[in-house]
Amino acid sequence: MKERTLSIIKPDAVGKGLIGEMIKRFEQAGFKIVAMKMVHMSKKEAEGFYAVHKERPFFESVTRFMSSGPSVVMVLEADNVIARNRELMGATNYKEAAEGTIRREFATDIEKNVVHGSDAPETAAFEIGYFFNALELVGV
Ligand code: ATP
Ligand code: MG
Repeated sequence: MKERTLSIIKPDAVGKGLIGEMIKRFEQAGFKIVAMKMVHMSKKEAEGFYAVHKERPFFESVTRFMSSGPSVVMVLEADNVIARNRELMGATNYKEAAEGTIRREFATDIEKNVVHGSDAPETAAFEIGYFFNALELVGV
């Protein structure tokens, strides 16, 4: 079933010049990019995005990191793309990520882990709506 997910190339990856590398991997995986833009989130905007984590000990730090520089936000579309993108990204902790995954190859710590991907249809819907309106998503 065709599905959409929100992908973010995080500030660490943008800073290291990895935008092209990340987009190449998404395209090679067969994911269609249906929306894309660059954003520099404010601290408040990062807090809103990661609101599900507000009770977590890493909340303050991760929202500071996500607002530390520009990110590239994208909507990717493909069959079963939520799970497939999570697989392509690898585990949150790059030390536990499988060989060949994005995080295994490019992450430098558990927080600065290069990419974000939605983890379920409900979170994807919230996250896509957080950054894009209907007119910004290209048609089928
Ligand atoms: P994301 O939501 O960014 O795709 P994820 O779903 O793999 O990552 P989450 O548990 O949702 O992981 O955590 C959100 C983000 O918070 C992580 O990607 C990472 O940047 C940061 N984070 C998670 N756990 C820790 C931790 N223990 N210490 C520091 N930062 C963390
Ligand atoms: Mg997550």
